Amino acid sequence: MLRVVVVGGGAAGFFTAINLAELCKYTEVILIEKTHKLLTKVLVSGGGRCNVTHACFDNGLLVSNYPRGGKELRSAFSKFTTTDTVEWFKKRRINLKTESDGRMFPESNTSETIANGLLQMAHDLNVKVKTSITIKEIIINKDKSFTLKTDTDYSPQCDKLIIACGGNAKPESYNWIRNTGHSIVTPVPSLFTFNIPNNELTKLMGVSVPHAKIKIANTKLETEGPLLITHWGLSGPAVLKASAWGARMLNEMNYNFTVQVNWLPSYKEEGLRNLFIEYKESNAAKNIGGNCPVEIPKRLWEFFLHKTSINETNRWADIPKKQINLLINTLLNDAYEVKGKTTFKEEFVTCGGVSLKEIDFSTMQSKLVPNLYFAGEVLDIDGVTGGFNFQNAWTTAWIAAQGIGTSINQ
Ligand SMILES: Cc1cc2nc3c(=O)[nH]c(=O)nc-3n(C[C@H](O)[C@H](O)[C@H](O)COP(=O)(O)OP(=O)(O)OC[C@H]3O[C@@H](n4cnc5c(N)ncnc54)[C@H](O)[C@@H]3O)c2cc1C
Repeated sequence: MLRVVVVGGGAAGFFTAINLAELCKYTEVILIEKTHKLLTKVLVSGGGRCNVTHACFDNGLLVSNYPRGGKELRSAFSKFTTTDTVEWFKKRRINLKTESDGRMFPESNTSETIANGLLQMAHDLNVKVKTSITIKEIIINKDKSFTLKTDTDYSPQCDKLIIACGGNAKPESYNWIRNTGHSIVTPVPSLFTFNIPNNELTKLMGVSVPHAKIKIANTKLETEGPLLITHWGLSGPAVLKASAWGARMLNEMNYNFTVQVNWLPSYKEEGLRNLFIEYKESNAAKNIGGNCPVEIPKRLWEFFLHKTSINETNRWADIPKKQINLLINTLLNDAYEVKGKTTFKEEFVTCGGVSLKEIDFSTMQSKLVPNLYFAGEVLDIDGVTGGFNFQNAWTTAWIAAQGIGTSINQ
């Protein structure tokens, strides 16, 4: 009987094992996980709800959500994309629902539905799951099979091997993979929030705007989206997107940089000035603190008045043009010194990993070592938040399973 070993008991490992066991009834599928827990990230993901995928059904658009791997995923998504994920789970009686921002969750609203579902499927298909075993070394045998060295006495041999061990920001954690001849693109964290220590802004924690534009000073990196003020700095989709697209660059800057914020990107400077002048004329007797001409939270408006030394009890009529210009400039060209980053609890990933140049994306097989396959975050692929990282795991795992299945069933 042929034997396949899957390394990693996460989303990609389970998805490969299940699809493979379905395809190859007479193949022994063994899944090895280093911790004593399975599907840990699936369980904690999406704040315990598991953001399984994203309701983006155009592959051209879908790939634009991957700062790394988008090009390679284009062909991969033509084989297994978001619609296939939805169908795959539906066929197995797990329905997904879409939220207004496009994120898709299990209808039950709990990640346990996904984790328990995958565990049950693996069990029903006789996947042999072994926990608390760490793969330490891969020995490539003369007949192109593998012998795996672990941190225990267990040392299985297998005909095909899939590495689905996830990402890790520590470069040395990839040594056992590097020893097979594969290159590892230096891993750095992605999806984090910005620390702005000792700034009055953080007193507004909890305040958010639905649409802001941020730019990392002296770079071309610019993102838009909701922006959230936290007790340590800035978060929200605009920041997370910047942290993903700029993961490597911001790491090189040692997370010390200036972030420029445009709190009202839908206005041009001239338009905003005209609006303020008209508002001033028609609200001359009203106080500026309680009467804001633009759609921003009241606390943020008061913060900007304070920042530009405008007394909020003053009447609009008494605000000189110079101060109005200063206020407009702050709303459109605000800036903060970022010193450090904080992990975004909802989702974080690794930028970097196994070089994509060495992988055949039609099967996920290594171009260097026959019978060796890769799936999930261990690859140099990562997406922005919203379900794109799991979609990478489902897609690459499904292709790996088909690739191995086809070669076994030939
Ligand atoms: C808190 C958090 C929330 C997230 N939420 C979402 C979300 O809602 N939506 C989304 O799309 N993405 C989310 N992500 C990202 C997503 O979870 C990952 O991209 C995805 O889990 C990657 O799957 P994987 O199977 O490749 O790796 P992992 O899930 O990391 O699984 C790899 C497994 O391999 C094991 N392993 C590692 N090395 C070895 C070894 N040498 N031997 C044996 N086993 C080994 C690890 O212990 C681990 O269990 C979240 C991430 C985090 C951290």
